[in-house]
Amino acid sequence: MEFDTIAAISTPLGEGAIAIVRLSGTEAISIANKVFRSPNGKNLAEQPSHTIHYGHLVDPKTNDVVEEVMISLMKGPKTFTREDVVEINCHGGLVTVNRVLQLILINGARLAEPGEFTKRAFLNGRIDLSQAEAVMDLIRAKTDKAMNVALGQMDGRLSRLIKTLRQALLETLAQVEVNIDYPEYDDVEEMTLPMMIEKGTWVKEEIEKLLITSSQGKILREGLSTAIVGRPNVGKSSLLNSLIQENKAIVTEIAGTTRDIIEEYVNVRGVPLKLVDTAGIRETEDIVERIGVEKSRQVLKEADLILLVLNNAEHLSDEDKRIFETIKGMDYIVIINKTDLPNKLNYDEVKQLAGDKRVVTTSLLKEEGIDELEESISSLFFEGNIEVSDITYVSNARHIALLNLAKSTITDAIEAAHNHVPVDMIQIDVTRTWEILGEIIGDTVEESLIDQLFAQFCLGK
Ligand code: GDP
Ligand code: ZN
Repeated sequence: MEFDTIAAISTPLGEGAIAIVRLSGTEAISIANKVFRSPNGKNLAEQPSHTIHYGHLVDPKTNDVVEEVMISLMKGPKTFTREDVVEINCHGGLVTVNRVLQLILINGARLAEPGEFTKRAFLNGRIDLSQAEAVMDLIRAKTDKAMNVALGQMDGRLSRLIKTLRQALLETLAQVEVNIDYPEYDDVEEMTLPMMIEKGTWVKEEIEKLLITSSQGKILREGLSTAIVGRPNVGKSSLLNSLIQENKAIVTEIAGTTRDIIEEYVNVRGVPLKLVDTAGIRETEDIVERIGVEKSRQVLKEADLILLVLNNAEHLSDEDKRIFETIKGMDYIVIINKTDLPNKLNYDEVKQLAGDKRVVTTSLLKEEGIDELEESISSLFFEGNIEVSDITYVSNARHIALLNLAKSTITDAIEAAHNHVPVDMIQIDVTRTWEILGEIIGDTVEESLIDQLFAQFCLGK
């Protein structure tokens, strides 16, 4: 396929030390050559692939020097897009980078649409759709584990599994064809139905396994929304501060949102926590008191995890019990704080109220017990210490929707087979499942969907 040459800034905008303007397309090298001057008069077009060149960018009309640069030259097809790619490394800073980009655009490149580099990689057959989406997740990945998931998906783990499932379905369909074409050799139903049930059940189970990991996938990508609750003065702010201090805050504010809820991201042993409504907790001390039990339950319901703080130095109060009541049925961890002070709290009573929930003790003042708390948080969501590298996570909403759909069509097929529906009817459901799974890796996607997907990508990727 042949496309025009596109260009974009491929590093985050802002005050980075260096920035990269990337070009891709048949004219990439000649456009760069037009504006590049090396100290010894190198012609970029004559340089070998995958080399780096020092020099200056000049405006060919005025011969004014625009910027001092390093240019990486990469000839297709051994590039991300499979086209000729030029990366211009220049000094960071909005003004400089924009000047470089402008110069490139004036000299023949077109500004890339969001995600267009990745789209080309897809259209040129370099990556499949789920890999393309993984690139998008990678851009957004907030923690190491989320990064591993995206990377795993990019090198095709999900694609390989989906291909295996489709292969199994295809074999089933082929078998059915054979039996329908040569009915005289066998009783078609006797041959095919048990096999359909067996293969279909296997496919269904594999899909279910993938779906189980999907909620973790969502958490990995978006952060586990976490609310800290408790009576005034028990140590909520202290807990919040210690979580933020101990763990590198990843994002402090979501740019461009006008919501009044402040979200703070921290990374607790690879589990990204999105501490929600912390401003509210900080200001009014008690979210349950402030907005009433019903409303606060509504707010808390949206949390994936609740950290309930109690005071070791006081008896369990009615208010504590009310909070227990409020968060019943949700995922929570009880934190008994202020263990440095003389004990008054009845632990047995707490354990009874907490049931099977974890209870940890801390002295936030003396910085004790924080390790145990972090351990409980991470083990709660990686039960049995699942190693991310061992498992294929599904972290993409579109994949999850398609997997659910595939699960329901294959379930229909299995049920029909049990009910001895004619095989050519069952075939329709199996074919549909095969198609739906294909959509995950982009084998049966329509053009409009592709456009939609790539439009979501960050510019320059
Ligand atoms: P909040 O009202 O629940 O947010 O509680 P704060 O975090 O503001 O803490 C209330 C008071 O308890 C502050 O004076 C803290 O320094 C103190 N505090 C917090 N954690 C501990 C602890 O583990 N031991 C002791 N002795 N005091 C603590
Ligand atoms: Zn406070």
